[in-house]
Amino acid sequence: MAHRSGFVNIIGNPNVGKSTLMNKLVGEKLSIITSKAQTTRHRIMGIVNGEDFQIVYSDTPGILKPAYKLQSAMMKFVESALEDADVILYITDTYESPIKNKEFLDRLQELNTPIILAINKVDLSDQEKVQELAATWAEHLPNAKILPISALHGFNTDSLITLISEQLPEGPEFFPKDVLTDKTLRFFASEIIREKILKSYKKEIPYSIEVDIEEYKEEERIDRIRALIYVDRDSQKSIVIGHEGKMLKKVGTEARLDLEKFLGKKVFLELYVKVDPNWRNDNSKLKRYGYPT
Ligand code: GDP
Ligand code: MG
Repeated sequence: MAHRSGFVNIIGNPNVGKSTLMNKLVGEKLSIITSKAQTTRHRIMGIVNGEDFQIVYSDTPGILKPAYKLQSAMMKFVESALEDADVILYITDTYESPIKNKEFLDRLQELNTPIILAINKVDLSDQEKVQELAATWAEHLPNAKILPISALHGFNTDSLITLISEQLPEGPEFFPKDVLTDKTLRFFASEIIREKILKSYKKEIPYSIEVDIEEYKEEERIDRIRALIYVDRDSQKSIVIGHEGKMLKKVGTEARLDLEKFLGKKVFLELYVKVDPNWRNDNSKLKRYGYPT
């Protein structure tokens, strides 16, 4: 049988479950997940290999109108994912109205790329409502193949994989067959720390932080990681550290336990907090943190 391969790019509005689905399809927790919008800031590839196929999934930030340079950079990841897709996997959920992103949908229609539209979170709805929603979506995106799923519970994800496989073009692999992702250990370390911060603090803190891995030393039995958490302002620094350093300690412990699970080995993690005003609007800093500028 001919070898099939392609880029399957996951796109959609914030919070619809793109990262949850990516992790489910890849079978690894490559993308961090929280209930907050703008959790995913990068394009993250997750690669699934078989003898006669290779699927390169890309998780992307949710579509938004940029207010900061950081957000413009995030949207560049979305743009790139529109450009190189062999299949567009557009994710919506049972809450979202099909007219929310009219302009974007019109653009999708104009591309010549096969579109699969997955209506996620059907576990939170009922069959009648989902059928109605699917019918409305079919009017807005007549070219798309539509499938109700639950990424969280794995409902219909096998059917989704079948649909995807049918759309994959013939071609050789893009990456060696033992490669799981395009990202480095440093990247996953910073993402896991960021996830714990997003989950631990309220208000603007999750949106004002960046995690920079200063040092990553791989030893035989242990990985030693030193990370800097950047915040916008002094007041945020004291919130992140917390009374007697308790909050930072909690974040550090949670991140270390997750890192140890992800890496399958012991981790020694040091966290420091530093003020870096305006990093979200500074191109040279965004570049250093791995964003396209
Ligand atoms: P993203 O912003 O599109 O990447 O969305 P995430 O994958 O980060 O998920 C956002 C929130 O929706 C998280 O709290 C997830 O646990 C939740 N979620 C994702 N998929 C499902 C699903 O199928 N059912 C339910 N009930 N919740 C889901
Ligand atoms: Mg995400």
